[in-house]
Amino acid sequence: MIHQTLKKCFGFDKFKTGQEEVIRRVINGDSAGAIFPTGSGKSLCYQLSALHLPALTLVVSPLLALMKDQLDFLSSKGIAAATIDSSLKSETVREIMDKVKAGAYKILLIAVERFKNERFRKFLSGVPISLMVVDEAHCISEWGHNFRPDYLKLPVYQREFNVRQVLLLTATATPEVIDDMCAKFNMPRDAVTVTGFYRGNLRLWVKPAAAADKPDLLYKLLKDSPEQASIVYVTLQQTAEDVALFLLGKNINAVAYHAGMEDEERKKIQNSFMRGEKNCIVATIAFGMGIDKRDIRRVIHYNLPKSIENYSQEIGRAGRDGLNSDCYVLANRDDVNVLENFIYGDTPETDGIRSVLEEIPRDGARWELRITRLSTFSNIRILPLKTLLVYLEMKGIVKPLYSYFAQYRYSNIISDGDIASKFKGERRQFIDSLFSGVEKSRIWTTVDIDKIKYGYNTNRDRITAALEYFHQHGFIKLEAKDTVEIYEVIMPEFDIDLTTRDLALLFKQKEQTEIRRIEKMLRFFNGSSCLSYALADYFGEKINRKKCDHCSICLEGQVSIEKSIPLKPFTEYDFNELTDPLTAKLKTPPGPELLTRFLCGITVPVFSKIKAKQLPGFGKLEKYRYADVRSWLEAFLTV
Ligand code: ADP
Ligand code: MG
Repeated sequence: MIHQTLKKCFGFDKFKTGQEEVIRRVINGDSAGAIFPTGSGKSLCYQLSALHLPALTLVVSPLLALMKDQLDFLSSKGIAAATIDSSLKSETVREIMDKVKAGAYKILLIAVERFKNERFRKFLSGVPISLMVVDEAHCISEWGHNFRPDYLKLPVYQREFNVRQVLLLTATATPEVIDDMCAKFNMPRDAVTVTGFYRGNLRLWVKPAAAADKPDLLYKLLKDSPEQASIVYVTLQQTAEDVALFLLGKNINAVAYHAGMEDEERKKIQNSFMRGEKNCIVATIAFGMGIDKRDIRRVIHYNLPKSIENYSQEIGRAGRDGLNSDCYVLANRDDVNVLENFIYGDTPETDGIRSVLEEIPRDGARWELRITRLSTFSNIRILPLKTLLVYLEMKGIVKPLYSYFAQYRYSNIISDGDIASKFKGERRQFIDSLFSGVEKSRIWTTVDIDKIKYGYNTNRDRITAALEYFHQHGFIKLEAKDTVEIYEVIMPEFDIDLTTRDLALLFKQKEQTEIRRIEKMLRFFNGSSCLSYALADYFGEKINRKKCDHCSICLEGQVSIEKSIPLKPFTEYDFNELTDPLTAKLKTPPGPELLTRFLCGITVPVFSKIKAKQLPGFGKLEKYRYADVRSWLEAFLTV
C-alpha cells in the first residue's frame, strides 16, 4: 500500500534507506525517529505517512524559512498543506484556521514560536491531531549542539493537545541526544532508525598544520585541479575575506561568504557557485544550508569545525553525486580558544540572571518585556536570555500570552510621496500621517508605531497592515524588529535567590557540556580509530567494518594536533594596565567573568553600550584559553 502511495502521489520508484521502516512504524500508530544525514529524504517520512493518517499532521520547525521548499514540494504533488506564520494577515490566519478545523488540510507547518501565541494554542486544542513531526529534533536536547529553548516545551504540547504520536527528524543526533529525545517524548529507543552516515566515496584527511603554514598548504590542496568545486570552511568572517583574497592572488577563482554580507550579495555568490562560475567558496558556517550541488569535490576545514556534528554536516556536502571527493581538516590547537570563547560568552553572569528575575512584576500585573532591551540591561545574550525565559516557564513562574514587534523599518523602492499619491480620501490622510511619524536615515526609515497610533488615533493593526501592503506591492522593503513579549505571572511569590542559583547552575552545566564537546572533537581528530568508522559510531550507526581504507588514519596513521603559536606567561602582563580601561567605564568594578570576557575579546551586550571594542585591552588575551585567563584574574582579585 505504501509503495503505491510512493509511486502514485510522489512519483518515486523506491524508498531511500530507512524511509520504509520509519513510515511503517508511524502508520502502525507508533512514534518514531529518523536520524538520516541531510539530503537523504527525511521529509518524505512524514509526507507519506500523513496521507495514511486519519487526522492532521502538525510539523514543527525551528524556522519557517526552512519549510518553504517542503510547502512548494507538497503543493506540486497536489497534497493539501498550509502554514501559519507571523507574516500573514489576521484574516488570512483565521481562514486557514477554519479550513484546518474543517479538515481541509492533511498537513500544517509551523515555526516553534507559534506555540507562544495563546490564540493559536486555543485553536489547536480544538483540532484532532494524529501526528506531531519535530524537524531538527536534536534542538530539544540541552546536551545537543544546537539547543532551542522553545523546543523544550514540545513534549508538554504533545500532551496538552492530545497528540498520540510523534515523529522526530534530525540529521545530527548522538546516541546521548537520541536517549534524551526519547526520554522527553516518552518513546522507546528502538523506535529510532539511524542510517546513512557512512560515506564510501568521501576520503577524510586530518592534516596537522601550524597557523603560519596553512595558506600554502591550502593552496597546495587546490592547485592541481583549481576548477573543481570546493568549499573552504573558516571560523571567523575576517578569515574568510583574508583567505579568499590570498587564493585570488594565486589565481584560484575564490570568493568569500559570511553572515556579515548583505542577503542579496550572498545569494549572488551562492548562485555563481552553483553555476560553476566560482570554483571555490571560502565561508563561515553561514554557508551550506539548502545547498544542493552534486559535484562538490572538496570540503576543506581551514579551521577546526565547531563540533563533530558540524563536521559531519559540512563534509556531507561533498560528493553528493557519489564520485570520490576529499575532505581535509587543517588542524592545530590555536583554534580551540576561539571555539571556546563562543561558548563562554553565552553563559549569563549570576547578577544578570538576578536582574531579570527582579524585573518580574509581583503585584499581579502582566510582564511586558522587550527582548533586546532586557538583553542589554541584564548583559545576557539573546539566545541564553530566551533559554532563561523558557526555564521560567517550565518552572511554572510565567506563561507566555502573545508577542508583537515593537519596531518596523523599511527601505524605499519608490518614494513615500509616490506611495501616498496612490491613495485617496480618508486612506490618504491616514497614510500621510503614517509617513509623518517615521524617521529617515540614509537607507532605512524607522517607524514609530506608538507615535503614529496616538497621532492619528488608530490602532497597531491598521499601521502594520498598511506597511505589509506596501511591502507586498513592491513599494518598500519591510523589516520587523524588536519583539515585545507579554507574559502572565503565574507564581509572583517565587523565591528570587533560589531561582537565581538554580538557573546559574543550569547554565554552568550547559557551558561545561559544550566545552566537553570540543574536547571530544579533538579526541576524534587526534585519535587512533578510523575516521569513517568513528563518525558513524558517533551518531550510533551500526557498521561492520572498523577500517575504511579511505581516511588518513587508515592510510597514514594517527596524527598529533599541537599548539603552533607560542604565548608568553601571564606574569609578563601588568594586571592594572590591562583592566583599568574597562573599570574606568563602569559604575561598579567588573568581576572576573566580565573582565575575562573583555580581555578575551568576547562581545556581550554591555560592551556595545560602552564601545568596549575601542578600548585598549579589549581582546588583548584572545589567544589564551578563557578558563586560564579567568583563573589568573580570580587569583588577582581575591588577594
Ligand atoms: P532531508 O530532510 O533528509 O535533508 P529531504 O527530505 O529534503 O532530505 O529530501 C531530499 C531530496 O530527496 C528531496 O528532493 C526529495 O524529494 C528526494 N526524495 C525523498 N525520498 C525520495 C525517494 N524515495 N526517491 C527519490 N527521491 C526522494
Ligand atoms: Mg529536511
